[in-house]
Amino acid sequence: MPESPYPMVSVEEALATVLAQCTPLDPVILPLEQALGHVLAEDVRAREPLPPFPASVKDGYAVVAADGPGEYPVVGQVAAGQVADFRLQPGTVAYITTGAPLPPGADAVVMVEETDPLPSQDEIPRVRIRARVRPGDDVRPVGVDVAAGQQVLAAGERLGPAEIGLLATVGAAQVTVHPRPRVAVLSTGDELVSPERALGPGQIRDSNRPMLLAAIAQHGGIPMDLGIARDDQADLERHVQQGLAQADILLSSGGVSMGDLDLIKPLLEHSGTVHFGRVRMKPGKPVTFATAEVQGRRRLIFGLPGNPVSSLVTFYLFGVPAMRRLAGWPDPHLRRVHARLAQPLRLDPHRPEYHRATLHWDPEGRAFVAVSTGSQASSRLLSMRSANALLELPQQEGELPAGSWVSALWIGAC
Ligand code: AMP
Ligand code: MG
Repeated sequence: MPESPYPMVSVEEALATVLAQCTPLDPVILPLEQALGHVLAEDVRAREPLPPFPASVKDGYAVVAADGPGEYPVVGQVAAGQVADFRLQPGTVAYITTGAPLPPGADAVVMVEETDPLPSQDEIPRVRIRARVRPGDDVRPVGVDVAAGQQVLAAGERLGPAEIGLLATVGAAQVTVHPRPRVAVLSTGDELVSPERALGPGQIRDSNRPMLLAAIAQHGGIPMDLGIARDDQADLERHVQQGLAQADILLSSGGVSMGDLDLIKPLLEHSGTVHFGRVRMKPGKPVTFATAEVQGRRRLIFGLPGNPVSSLVTFYLFGVPAMRRLAGWPDPHLRRVHARLAQPLRLDPHRPEYHRATLHWDPEGRAFVAVSTGSQASSRLLSMRSANALLELPQQEGELPAGSWVSALWIGAC
């Protein structure tokens, strides 16, 4: 068998090579409603303090703390959203609701649970205050939650629900963020038909394209479907050029092994620069990475192997970090956790293996336990079913006994 001309690089080297070619996409301005999941490209400060006025923490009575417990006339009321049109004099109280501005003259709030209603006198309601409070009790002073001018978010932070809430708080209705990368997906192979088609002789259905499009969407990219290219130089070239014109990242699957009709590597050699064409890993050894300059911007091209498991595993290992870096994540790596093996696992003496497993929390052992998905054949997509982690098994003779600790890359939804 002819040797591949590409040197075998380690997964770590390959990933470093990929990330070295990635720069965050130029920032865009988005309305807040569309910002979820994006990474901020600028610091955000509060212009006004929060609360902007001394606000009641409770439903109850605004009081002058020095008055102390006793019976008092209720001279007015302030609900949230209103402003008192009176000044509270010592010896009087005002009804107040949570979030309402303290009336001028008042310096504390007594919660309603510490009071008793009394009969009105001369049509003025009265109340008994039972609690002794100090100035400031149950009042949020101006700026206690957010000070005026305070930085509430920094460039590089990813926007989740709390961050969206903070942006809303400070009135940032438009935010400057890195856009989601556009990722085009191309399947290659004469044997492939779309999922809705009946199978003819020698045909199989194209699983990789719907799978990778879904993975891209799940990991925050904008998926673009390039369809299926035939194992034909001109057809492949046309599809690849179409992808490069539209997308930041192009993922092809298939056609990267050593067969005569494995045309992707030579095609990438002539339309760009191939950075690696072989990685010491199982599955996914022939994964290929190239870049090409198109319309003044560097496009990333991943030639993923055709076997469904290999294509998805290599997408997680290299494609997801690349997408995250383009999207502006300061740390684009997959998250790692430690887990104990539920069963013994045989090791591969030639290549580190990314063994698909389902991690679940074991409350007794107080640890994640990794359950293998079974036969790890790279064509067997069932080995990715319900997998939320890739166990990083070392290149080694023999097996790891049940109960061994392994590191695992988290691939579940995040
Ligand atoms: P290749 O890398 O093109 O030699 O493909 C390796 C194996 O993966 C072959 O058995 C192909 O039929 C299969 N394969 C390639 N592309 C796909 C795809 N999009 N969906 C399902 N199987 C595929
Ligand atoms: Mg093929």
